[in-house]
Amino acid sequence: MTDRLAKALREAMPGLEVREEEPLREHTTLHIGGPARRLLLPASAGELTELCALLRRWGEKPLILGNGSNVLAPDAGIDGTVIVTKKAEAVTLRGEAVEAECGAALTRVSAFAGEQGLTGLEFAYGIPGTLGGALVMNAGAYGGEMKDVTAWAEYLDGELRLRRAEGDALGFAYRHSRFGPEDVILRASLSLRRGDGEAVRARCRELAEKRRASQPLEWPSAGSAFKRPREGYAAAMIDRAGLKGYTVGGAQVSEKHAGFIINRGGATAEDMKKILEDVRQRVYERTGVLLEREIRIL
Ligand SMILES: Cc1cc2nc3c(=O)[nH]c(=O)nc-3n(C[C@H](O)[C@H](O)[C@H](O)COP(=O)(O)OP(=O)(O)OC[C@H]3O[C@@H](n4cnc5c(N)ncnc54)[C@H](O)[C@@H]3O)c2cc1C
Repeated sequence: MTDRLAKALREAMPGLEVREEEPLREHTTLHIGGPARRLLLPASAGELTELCALLRRWGEKPLILGNGSNVLAPDAGIDGTVIVTKKAEAVTLRGEAVEAECGAALTRVSAFAGEQGLTGLEFAYGIPGTLGGALVMNAGAYGGEMKDVTAWAEYLDGELRLRRAEGDALGFAYRHSRFGPEDVILRASLSLRRGDGEAVRARCRELAEKRRASQPLEWPSAGSAFKRPREGYAAAMIDRAGLKGYTVGGAQVSEKHAGFIINRGGATAEDMKKILEDVRQRVYERTGVLLEREIRIL
């Protein structure tokens, strides 16, 4: 049955995609998660802003998702409102900067930069998140991170005031930023440099190949399950603890890359939580290092 808020949203914003009882497993790369009461897909940063204002009038606090590539959604779903940003994906060239809306796929933004002969964003090619999710997580790979390229980010704060953060105010640290659950990132500008377009594109292809060779991309996952500890690499520690292939229900420590936990089919959020905790415990017993989760549990 259509609820009042969904009906009101359809009336107030006729262009907005409103889905009810939408399975979150279809919006997370782990393919786990029960239904969201309402799942909304605004088509631009402008529509996202309008939507946030409307929800606020209803006293409704939405959960924001990009591509769901770093999250674990509950089996019972979410009895509330989820906004998925990936249709707000405009990308524009501004001199040597690339400006993009929060839902733009990071790989697409990176490819766009390459097509324009701009260098600096090659590291991001192949990270399966959106720009918004990448800023929240300060996503990084192969020696680069969002911190290196972000000139500014525009966002709505908890009071829905439009803000722009730049420099130190972005609060970037390893897999961390200033952005908390109350903030909604709308768009950002990435500052790049003029380079050799062919070399940029070749580097992107090389990094994509490295990922294919080392990561279990053929299985659903949320990337590295744990952050890199000061003492070394999580994957090496998990491997040394003899956990490659360790399985709980449908969840398994990847044989190909011990830092990834994959969904071998039918994994539940409970399987995932248990395997994450078991791995943490076993690595701690073996090495004395307490791994910190990178995957966010919703
Ligand atoms: C195969 C694979 C490989 C990966 N490789 C890497 C890698 O090399 N490096 C790396 O850093 N990560 C990697 N990841 C993890 C993931 O892709 C990144 O963390 C990515 O930046 C998450 O983006 P997302 O859009 O999917 O965010 P989501 O998972 O949708 O969300 C992550 C967090 O950001 C919040 N959020 C998302 N968008 C917004 C917004 N617009 N405003 C406010 N909050 C928002 C969400 O509420 C959530 O808390 C990998 C994942 C997979 C599956």
